[in-house]
Amino acid sequence: MIFTLDLEDHRPDERAEVRFPALVESICDALDAAGVRGTVFVVGELAASHPEVVAAVAARGHELGLHGARHVPLPEIGPGPFAAETAEARDRIEQAAQVPCRGYRAPIFSLVPDSAWAPELLTRCGFTWSSSILPAPNPLYGWPGAPTRPFRWPSGLVELPAPLIGPGRLAVPVGGTYLRLAPAPLVAWIRRRFADRPDAWLYLHPYDCDPDEPRWTVPEVGRLASRLLWWRRRGMLERVIRLCAGSRVTLGEVAEDLAPTAPVFDPGPTRQGEGA
Ligand SMILES: [Zn+2]
Repeated sequence: MIFTLDLEDHRPDERAEVRFPALVESICDALDAAGVRGTVFVVGELAASHPEVVAAVAARGHELGLHGARHVPLPEIGPGPFAAETAEARDRIEQAAQVPCRGYRAPIFSLVPDSAWAPELLTRCGFTWSSSILPAPNPLYGWPGAPTRPFRWPSGLVELPAPLIGPGRLAVPVGGTYLRLAPAPLVAWIRRRFADRPDAWLYLHPYDCDPDEPRWTVPEVGRLASRLLWWRRRGMLERVIRLCAGSRVTLGEVAEDLAPTAPVFDPGPTRQGEGA
């Protein structure tokens, strides 16, 4: 599977220790050892506060995308401020790393019917592809009924939806907490399941591989799900490597290949004109 990392700062408050730079370095070391190259989606704020981390990721050969100017779900941002802050964050990443940034991943897969204005604005900002949709019901953000295979938005933006495992309403993406909790035989099954899917990707966060992080309650997910966020972090990197070993294709390269032939998905009228 294609490796992707959502590079975000996971801390209860500003006083807590910044842990992601060291985690990113150890993740990159493990990827190098396994011959893996992939796509790293950076929250724009981190390109301002830690440009050296972003530059180091690019220098190791990984593709860079934007994981939101801030780690805020799209429906909470709205179309008004979205375009300006997104273009500015993209510029910041490009300046930090001196590589182009043409791909986008919405924070928490929050490209949903309420934020269907986003693809048009991303295209206007110069993005050519996105992997922002979880095409299944989800307690956080999902778009049941959206295509489960790569497609193009009417604006031309190529979308690479999250590959799913599990039946119908219980389908989940491959990555994060879902992958940490998956029993070992299921990991082997996932490997076989996606062997013939060149567009199949998984996602990881730096904190998924951080067993030593002190526990705190993440307000967005509540107390119970916060406990799940700490489960089985030890060994997560090994299972990711098992699924990605030897993969050297980036999501941007897949999107470029698919751009001429991917079917168009038009969700119908959106609120994109309002205040955009
Ligand atoms: Zn994220």
